[in-house]
Amino acid sequence: MEIIVCIKQVPDTTEVKIDPEKGTLIRDGVPSIVNPFDEYAVEAALRLKAEKGGKVTVITMGPPQAVEALRKCIAMGADEAVLVSDRAFAGSDTWSTSYTLAKAISSLGKFDLILCGKQAIDGDTAQVGPGIAEHLKISQITYVQKVFGIQDNTVAAERGVESGYELIESPLPVLMTIDKSCCVPRLPSMMGTVKALKKEIKTLTVNDINLEPGLFGMEGSPTRVKRTFTPQPRKGGRMITGEMHEALDELVKTLRDEKIV
Ligand SMILES: Cc1cc2nc3c(=O)[nH]c(=O)nc-3n(C[C@H](O)[C@H](O)[C@H](O)COP(=O)(O)OP(=O)(O)OC[C@H]3O[C@@H](n4cnc5c(N)ncnc54)[C@H](O)[C@@H]3O)c2cc1C
Repeated sequence: MEIIVCIKQVPDTTEVKIDPEKGTLIRDGVPSIVNPFDEYAVEAALRLKAEKGGKVTVITMGPPQAVEALRKCIAMGADEAVLVSDRAFAGSDTWSTSYTLAKAISSLGKFDLILCGKQAIDGDTAQVGPGIAEHLKISQITYVQKVFGIQDNTVAAERGVESGYELIESPLPVLMTIDKSCCVPRLPSMMGTVKALKKEIKTLTVNDINLEPGLFGMEGSPTRVKRTFTPQPRKGGRMITGEMHEALDELVKTLRDEKIV
């Protein structure tokens, strides 16, 4: 079983600042961590490997310092790590990030499963996983809360939806985006940490991946950030108290008076 896990190095804060001119995130001076959702994806991959055997490869697209995030995943138990890094990828939006990652994954050879986090805590779009699946033309199961296992080349999983959950089966290869309720990520072991320090990390640059000109980096990014702003805290508001049915009547009346419903 060849399992790829896409991980992203993110700033260790949700207080991400944005360059008002370019509309991109300012990462300088902010400590970095593995995107927390991606640790759940690594854990899910390690459990599937324990069940079925095979290899777990973690991959990230980012600046050279993103190797630290890859080393943490090696320390957790991943077998191989790949850094996709080149100045030519700067300015990538979610479309070209997922395109570049899809092409990088293809260049590594055969895979059975690709796992991503549900979303990154900085960009927060939850688009990269589904984008990779689309570019590779494989099935996807998003918001996975439970992986039941793999039998007869088919994975069974539970995905969260607003009204409850769905049980999905999909033949391999498939991409899954992993939610927090899926499992509890293990801590890196002492042995793993030593192994991670010595591990050779493969680096792929623009010349190693079969990319169409104009489809990666800033040039290949159709997203334009028109404006960014910090929402102001809401002022006022009113607490409706009292018996439940009276409070509900008052709430409905208020919503009607305010022409909200
Ligand atoms: C116009 C524009 C320009 C941008 N320029 C830059 C830039 O110059 N530098 C920059 O760093 N960012 C840049 N970004 C942000 C970048 O596009 C996003 O951070 C990136 O595409 C991931 O999107 P996200 O953070 O919403 O991840 P999500 O889609 O929320 O992530 C979901 C999952 O996808 C996987 N994933 C996401 N990103 C990566 C990755 N890089 N490597 C491996 N797996 C990943 C992880 O498993 C993650 O849990 C730019 C964005 C825009 C719109």
